[in-house]
Amino acid sequence: MSVIRNDLFFLFMKSLAIYFVFVLSVVLYGQCDSVRILPREAWNALPPKPFKNHVPVRITIHHEGTFFDGVKETAEAHISTVQKWGMSEARNWVDIPYHFLIDNKGRIFEGRNVFTVGETNTDYNPEGHLLISLLGNFEEQELPAAQLESLICLIVDCCKKFSIDPDTIKCHRDFTETLCPGKNLYARYSDGYILSEVKKRLNSK
Ligand SMILES: [Zn+2]
Repeated sequence: MSVIRNDLFFLFMKSLAIYFVFVLSVVLYGQCDSVRILPREAWNALPPKPFKNHVPVRITIHHEGTFFDGVKETAEAHISTVQKWGMSEARNWVDIPYHFLIDNKGRIFEGRNVFTVGETNTDYNPEGHLLISLLGNFEEQELPAAQLESLICLIVDCCKKFSIDPDTIKCHRDFTETLCPGKNLYARYSDGYILSEVKKRLNSK
């Protein structure tokens, strides 16, 4: 009899422990306590050329558009290549086109100065847009959970820092003819997940 009681007690304690771990993970998941942004020095950025100022009033999501999985090259090397290509005769841009970039592990990198107008290959006017680019091509690649989570936290951080209304969040393809940010990333925007998570976390602070 006491053996059964001990077993029951053990089972009860085990269930209790599982329950608390579950509650704790629910509480901790879905928060953006500290958004760590790696500075330009982390990817050996070249200094920018003279640029046009703006005030960011909306957030626009991009993918970088070339395959990236962090195996053949580091995010730092990839971002440096994007900057060098854009500043070369290929585009003659003043700096890397995006204000922030996020790699597949969810690491956030500082791009161009937030108060400068971004660049585009397409025919929308990026003035007033804060451009966030996720490394990868999400027409072809799946979107890693860590990358999506960092995107949400970075958007929350930018909405707070720059007083941006979360209802302004859109994707590149909402403005012009482009596949950017790729169907697998766009799916999490069009199903409302990104916006609802951003609003939930903004309201919880
Ligand atoms: Zn884009």
